[in-house]
Amino acid sequence: MLNIMDNKNLKNMHPFSTSAGIIEINPELRNIGYADGINIEGPLSEEKKNEMISLAAKKFGEFLDALGCDWKNDPNSKETPTRVAKAYVNDLWAGRYNALPKITTFPNLEYDGMIFQGNIPLISMCSHHHQTIMGRVHVAYIPKINQEIIGLSKINRIVEHYGRRGAIQENLTVRIHDSINSIIKSNKGVAVMIEATHNCVQCRGVGHSGTKMKTSKLTGDFIDSAKTRNEFYEFIKDSK
Ligand SMILES: [Zn+2]
Repeated sequence: MLNIMDNKNLKNMHPFSTSAGIIEINPELRNIGYADGINIEGPLSEEKKNEMISLAAKKFGEFLDALGCDWKNDPNSKETPTRVAKAYVNDLWAGRYNALPKITTFPNLEYDGMIFQGNIPLISMCSHHHQTIMGRVHVAYIPKINQEIIGLSKINRIVEHYGRRGAIQENLTVRIHDSINSIIKSNKGVAVMIEATHNCVQCRGVGHSGTKMKTSKLTGDFIDSAKTRNEFYEFIKDSK
């Protein structure tokens, strides 16, 4: 049995999927958890992931049935429910089901300037429409001497972890910022800027291509000092 939100501290458990009787989600956290991935207790084992894929595939088949799609008799569609379920669990929402990779930090003996990692590829999905969000993330922080710095590629890992779950760009920006801020507890500021195109704007609704959404979350020196803030945005320009 796949038990989601099986946390002793959480009360009022209710079945989320009564027909299958498999998934339980705490209703109080259902909406919060959607963007943050906290409605899963801990990373899932391969066995639990396979259980989830089987259940999701069954439900996606019913979704196609409801849309009048004869998927069972179409050679190109008969495995589609399983393909879609695997894509969600193993790729598109992998950040929900796997732990944040171990983030290596190192002692910082003398550097008190900005550390910038720009143009980090973002592949995500909007939680409103389940359409792709593709873009770039720019991250910077200012360490303190005799404190810690993050292994550089781990910043990319953090972006990947939070991007792979389905969120709105606003929340994703905050999640990445807060993650850096919590790993490097003693810092002089953290800045995150995301620029991305949303498929839900291009392929449905208004149907406009070429628009780009930009979001930023700045704290510490990036807010207090115009010079530091400008340096961050200059670094972004230079990194393109
Ligand atoms: Zn959307």
